[in-house]
Amino acid sequence: MSVLSDNYKRIVSEIEGKITNPEELEFVKEKVAELSMLFMDIIDNLADKTEEKIQQMEEKQKQIEDKINMVESAVNEIEGDIYEEDGNFDFEIVCPYCNYEFTAEITGKDEITCPECNNIIELDWNEEDEDGCTGHCSGCHGCEEDEDDFDEDEQDEEDNEDDM
Ligand SMILES: [Zn+2]
Repeated sequence: MSVLSDNYKRIVSEIEGKITNPEELEFVKEKVAELSMLFMDIIDNLADKTEEKIQQMEEKQKQIEDKINMVESAVNEIEGDIYEEDGNFDFEIVCPYCNYEFTAEITGKDEITCPECNNIIELDWNEEDEDGCTGHCSGCHGCEEDEDDFDEDEQDEEDNEDDM
């Protein structure tokens, strides 16, 4: 901008050196100013339009990035599901017959054959039935109410039988 205004001043002083009639000088200076304002307007317009286009492009790019992010997270989710199926269903099993340790992929099965002794191992997915629990089963949290403190227990059992 300073180079531009330096040149502008030089041009004006050159005009002042040539035109001696003050009225003509004033007129020419005015017209030169008008002309330069015209060019400034054009430049400003161009700059505005360029900026507008850049903003539009940035906005579009942001939309594209958003879409890419959505696709990426969807892919990650799918990947997660796949790994879950591959990983989490590989169970470590200890054979109760021969103590052989092995891993097996189990999906919906409730028994599996031991590769060492060929005995069939039953898999208990659910906690032991309350009837079979002596209060010391692996999934036991509150089954130890064998004491006769509560008469309610007996009543509950009777209710259950009625329901059946
Ligand atoms: Zn075995």
